[in-house]
Amino acid sequence: MKSKVYFIQANRREGDKLVAEKAERAFLALGLHSRIEKDAFVALKIHFGEKGNTGFIKPEWLKGIIRQLQGRTDRAFFTDTNTLYVGMRSNAVDYTQLAARHGFSLEKTGLPVIIADGLVGENDEEVKIGLKRVNAGKIAAAIARADFLICLNHVTGHVQTGLGAAIKNMGMGCASRAGKLEQHSEVQPRINPKACKNCSICLDYCPAGAIIQKEGSAHIIQDKCIGCGECLVVCKTGAVRMRWDEDSARIQEKMVEYAYAVWDKFREKAGFVNFLLKITKDCDCMAKDQPEMVGDIGILASTDPVALDKASADLIIERSRKDVFRKSYDIDWSVQLRHGARIGLGSLDYELIESS
Ligand code: SF4
Ligand code: SF4
Repeated sequence: MKSKVYFIQANRREGDKLVAEKAERAFLALGLHSRIEKDAFVALKIHFGEKGNTGFIKPEWLKGIIRQLQGRTDRAFFTDTNTLYVGMRSNAVDYTQLAARHGFSLEKTGLPVIIADGLVGENDEEVKIGLKRVNAGKIAAAIARADFLICLNHVTGHVQTGLGAAIKNMGMGCASRAGKLEQHSEVQPRINPKACKNCSICLDYCPAGAIIQKEGSAHIIQDKCIGCGECLVVCKTGAVRMRWDEDSARIQEKMVEYAYAVWDKFREKAGFVNFLLKITKDCDCMAKDQPEMVGDIGILASTDPVALDKASADLIIERSRKDVFRKSYDIDWSVQLRHGARIGLGSLDYELIESS
């Protein structure tokens, strides 16, 4: 049977109020809200945006969804987890302040923000799944203990996985720091000394102190590298490379299995909303404004994260008339979808139900 994916065209030029109404309608189409019991803990998993980023989902677009949730429970909350890399999102104190600056404060949204894996990413629960690459996922405790999960996903490209959408927000985004480390553990970037300008930017950003300067260029000490990918993102000369398809396939499969570990806790109590607005080459971890790869498309929702991400990617490729994800990074991003279907996270077959 095909999974249902609900789609409403939307554009930021229409204004926040209309975008919020459309997001609310897409969410309501899932039928999830009517099952939320009074006093249920509802985790709204979102990326609040790195400092300087402008692409993240705006709190104003979520007013309708928040209103619906507040009609059912007083215990809905926004949540995300600490990052591996250095920045405003690597501990709960800095991150909640950053979230507030981006409009996610109790005063503005009516919902609290809880960083789900604790002060510095130490607080998780193991969920046994026994899959090909992950035996037990280390899931951020405040998410693992919630009664319902609603993932609000900004669809973008991604330096390590090609595509970043619902599966990534759930798999990588709901993992504690130890869980993120496990997913990155086999990624081993290399630096091409001929392309390296020895600017030392990557040394400043590397959270593991794994980069040194030697013989006129930067070098990665493989034994120290935790595979976070930060050096890939910050190097402006393209000197840092990974074995794209090989490393990416492994990280995508682990990410999908982590997503399965999260989804398995909720199943029919999980819903996913994808925002195809301001679609950029890199994700919202980038500490800067980024140009769009393709114009705004709209908002999609489903209870099947695989079908939802497949439908989102299909719409983006159709609109841009090329595979913008593959063009941005030489990565087969469809690994995450195929592996998701293989392990039972969702289906590649979907029915797109469009409304206005
Ligand atoms: S950021 Fe790039 S160019 Fe600069 S030192 Fe690192 S690898 Fe070399
Ligand atoms: S070398 Fe690069 S991938 Fe490895 S830990 Fe440092 S920043 Fe992360």
